[in-house]
Amino acid sequence: MPTRGALGGPRLLLRRLREVMAEPVNAQARLDRIVVHIAANMVAEVCSVYVLRADSRLELFATEGLKREAVHMTTIRVDEGLVGLIAKTAEPLALTDAQAHPAFSYKPETGEEIYNSFLGVPILRGGNTLGVLVVQNRVKRAYSDEEVEVLETIAMLLAEMIASGELQAIVRPGAEIALRRPLALKGSPVADGVGLGHVVLHEPRVIVTQIVAEDGKRELERLDAAIEAMRAYIDQLLDGDGSAGEHREVLETFRMFANDRGWLRRLREAISTGITAEAAVERVQNDARARLQRQTDPYLRERLHDLDDLANRLLHQRTGQALVAAPETLPDNAILVARSMGPAALLEYDRKRLRGLVLEDAGASSHVAIVARALGIPTVGDLDNITSLVEQGDALIVDGATGEVHVRPQPDVEAAYREKARLRARRQEQYHSLRDVPGRTVDGVDVGLHMNAGLLVDLQNLAEAGVRSIGLFRTELQFMLAPQFPRLEKQYALYRQVIDATPDGAVTFRTLDIGGDKILPYMQIYEEENPALGWRAIRIGLDRPGLLRSQLRAMLRAGAGRKLNIMFPMVAMVEEFDAARLLVERELAHLARHGYEAPSDLKLGVMVEVPSLLWQLEELMQRVDFVSVGSNDLVQYLTAADRDNKRVSGRFDVLSPPILRALRSVARAGAASGTPVTLCGEIGGRPLEAMTLIGLGYRGLSMSAASIGPVKAAILAMNARETAAFVESLLAERTGASSLREKLRAYADAKGVPL
Ligand code: PEP
Ligand code: MG
Repeated sequence: MPTRGALGGPRLLLRRLREVMAEPVNAQARLDRIVVHIAANMVAEVCSVYVLRADSRLELFATEGLKREAVHMTTIRVDEGLVGLIAKTAEPLALTDAQAHPAFSYKPETGEEIYNSFLGVPILRGGNTLGVLVVQNRVKRAYSDEEVEVLETIAMLLAEMIASGELQAIVRPGAEIALRRPLALKGSPVADGVGLGHVVLHEPRVIVTQIVAEDGKRELERLDAAIEAMRAYIDQLLDGDGSAGEHREVLETFRMFANDRGWLRRLREAISTGITAEAAVERVQNDARARLQRQTDPYLRERLHDLDDLANRLLHQRTGQALVAAPETLPDNAILVARSMGPAALLEYDRKRLRGLVLEDAGASSHVAIVARALGIPTVGDLDNITSLVEQGDALIVDGATGEVHVRPQPDVEAAYREKARLRARRQEQYHSLRDVPGRTVDGVDVGLHMNAGLLVDLQNLAEAGVRSIGLFRTELQFMLAPQFPRLEKQYALYRQVIDATPDGAVTFRTLDIGGDKILPYMQIYEEENPALGWRAIRIGLDRPGLLRSQLRAMLRAGAGRKLNIMFPMVAMVEEFDAARLLVERELAHLARHGYEAPSDLKLGVMVEVPSLLWQLEELMQRVDFVSVGSNDLVQYLTAADRDNKRVSGRFDVLSPPILRALRSVARAGAASGTPVTLCGEIGGRPLEAMTLIGLGYRGLSMSAASIGPVKAAILAMNARETAAFVESLLAERTGASSLREKLRAYADAKGVPL
């Protein structure tokens, strides 16, 4: 309704507001002037600003037209009235007859019941509602789309004011505005440890400082130029070989959005209200983020994420600000916050300055999680929306053991966590003092403690944990991090470094365990209905012997004149081991022909992680030099519960009679045939489970470096024979219970075994 804008139109209003923003007055005076200008320019009797408080109430901060006495006195709940509805939905609302709306409710102290028409918009920042801006008219009038746009633009200015912290000074005494409110959130525990520090956004948000435009035509040109440049960039990436590390599908989606008419139209409309190209992108991005937060459909969420990414790129391009935080400018106590992150990106940051990591899209078994654990960075994953809830530099606490994250914590919460971190540090010191103590139970039973590794960064943990051998080296990590297949020389170099860095040179290399959830970006992907039951690990190795043979060759060369253990993952039938051993023998012959020295002591083993092996134990033990139980997979297959599916992965307790009996059968078969048995799944690194395994007859456990100390402390306090008798008695009870955890815990407590 352009005639309504007769008093100078939106451009004049924005210019006025910019002047008000620059005036040296206090926050209240500034807000008071803003509402007067808006009401006059939009020919409305009422203009009010509500700001969301930490207690989820919207406080009236300024008004033109409602009773002045109501300012800072009237508050509205977010589930109350039209203003509450806007705050909750984060969407504008334009009504000709507000009183007819089912959500309408009125506050007598404001005198608002005489107003019929109502236009309100959310004040948004990063997709979060900070408040609501409202205009009202006595007559029943329809607000134009242009007026809605104008009000949304003004809301951006108010968002900046709220974000600056200026309004905290005038909120009702005792209250706090929501933007800075403390939040307690819960994600998935990914890497153990407690970290306190300040937020560094891995992909920093662009700060748009110039909102009001001088020249609308020029802004449209600037927008066109930026979009053109971005389209060209995306096309270039798509035409290229993809080596920029971008997934094709993501780029295709970007291209789709970059050509999306609706999106482009919204950007142009926003500029036509008098704002800069950057502010227009931020506006449209804000709306998308607000929608994202309410969207539960995973597909649509993904698309909105893509749109958000694209808007980010556009903003970065326009402002010249960096897309990814510069690793070299990290503050001392940084907590990285990212939507998602690859392992290579994490490795670029200076470990010494990182106190924690929080990720929106990463579970405990993701690649970045493996690297975070190797680096000992307390990490929480699966935390929806965290990148929108924090600002650069916010105080943040990460508890990687429980999955808890505290944003802008209250002093008492912070004090409690500082204490927790201190206690942990003290315990670490105690573990440290056990470094050179052998893992021997009180009744003199030796338990070999080995480390799980897969990266060069793991090696520095060997000395730290006082470990002399690597019980599981996951070779696939090198393949997963590389941009293309690592050639034989590269594999050899890594294996050699690993052997050289291990005090006893005792490394158990596992051949490539890919497939399932472990995908190589450069390898052809075959769609599988059930990847965990699909073409993976030794199955690929035997079907594509070239791959396995080159890996074996690299291992055998690296182990020249040394001890060398090689084991094969996912063996289901003993014949698969026979076939694999044949390949090893052929490689040995090949090396001998070419004058290479063979390992001085070569041992070949099998991972017991497919249940069918439990009924071939005798045949298996006759053939192999050692076995290592991969309890992560063995348990997943025994219980038919996907280890990566949050809904089922915690459904069954490993400390249950059926699983313990299965584990016992392997230890017994090993003992009967004199074949060494170790266990290298996650359970070996948990003190209560480790105690139980020793009770079942296990004499070797391989675990992450951080678990060595706690497990050793438990071993030093336990009696192996007594524990064995207790575990046997529990398994003989046949009560049908699905968990023996409480009984085992009570036993450990009674015996003084620290857990
Ligand atoms: C296992 O399955 O227990 C194991 C150690 O291997 P991964 O976790 O790599 O599958
Ligand atoms: Mg496994």
